[in-house]
Amino acid sequence: MSSPALEISRGAFRRNIAAVQARIAPAALMLVMKDDAYGHGLHWSVPEAADGGVEWFGGYDVDTALRIRALTDRKVYAWATSTVEEAEAAITAGIHLGVGSAQYLGDVIDVAARTGIRADVHLKIDTGLHRNGFRPDEWADAVATARAAEERGVVRVVGVWSHLAEASDDEDDAAQRLFHDAVRRLTDAGGRPEVLHLTASAASWWRPELRGTLNRIGAFCYGIRSADGPELEGIELISRLTAPVAEIGDDHVVVGVGSFHGLPSTLCGARVATPDGLRRILSIGGGEMHVEPWAGAQTDQRVVVFGPGRDGEADATALAERIDTVGEEIITRLTPAVRRVIVD
Ligand SMILES: *Cc1c(COP(=O)(O)O)cnc(C)c1O
Repeated sequence: MSSPALEISRGAFRRNIAAVQARIAPAALMLVMKDDAYGHGLHWSVPEAADGGVEWFGGYDVDTALRIRALTDRKVYAWATSTVEEAEAAITAGIHLGVGSAQYLGDVIDVAARTGIRADVHLKIDTGLHRNGFRPDEWADAVATARAAEERGVVRVVGVWSHLAEASDDEDDAAQRLFHDAVRRLTDAGGRPEVLHLTASAASWWRPELRGTLNRIGAFCYGIRSADGPELEGIELISRLTAPVAEIGDDHVVVGVGSFHGLPSTLCGARVATPDGLRRILSIGGGEMHVEPWAGAQTDQRVVVFGPGRDGEADATALAERIDTVGEEIITRLTPAVRRVIVD
């Protein structure tokens, strides 16, 4: 093992999923797997999660959703507004589509009518984030169009969804009122949505009254807590980034991981775990970093950049907080040159 590696624990992933499921029950989990399962790889994590009883998988874009579909026959959801070609591929593969604009709703209905394959759609109401979604004043038209298509057997309106800003409890409460109002207008028009999903990780975890029937959750299942957020009971880190000692200098040790591997050079100053305790990163170059020296440093050793293992080292979120980003950003930026090693 002379290259950097992201060691990933299947068991920890499974336990996190179980902890999230227990926490949000009776609401169900939609496991979000965008960015190749937050950088951990879909090929092992989809079957593992399906084995763990996950019924809904969230792929963000159609491409990811199709890759998930190839690995499981459970429900798969894609919510990025997509091209007609992508929508057709998704509908053909039985992927549920999140729809938040009149244009996209029209495209999805056209494709379903043309192919004769009924499309499963989840209508998005904009509850204040203004990032896609029907505005409240557009909702009546969206409902009328979707219901008419449903009556013709062209689509099924399976769900209503939105995304919370999570900036304050008051704003989220106001968003929930808008959400409930939108659902009521759909059911008044004869709609019978099976799933209502408003929340992602933090609100799902901490605010049971906002959960609805389905919760889109990514980060926590991968052991990534919210930046500046509290510890989560039952959630553990699932991945550890390690890198080899490449060379021993006079006043530093060269470690074989750097910005070419996706590590932000702004992490300089953070501490890594060496066999002799924590040492600071002195500088980060392309293929390597310089670390404060330790007694007995040797080229057959490895250091832990983040993850469980030795006392006191940072998790990905602690690193992320140093550079004002979120934990998943650290892991998803790691390039394929960082080998993913799946362990039990
Ligand atoms: C990424 C994403 C999620 C999952 O967010 P986490 O914070 O990782 O749980 C949920 N919903 C939407 C719309 C997303 O884009």
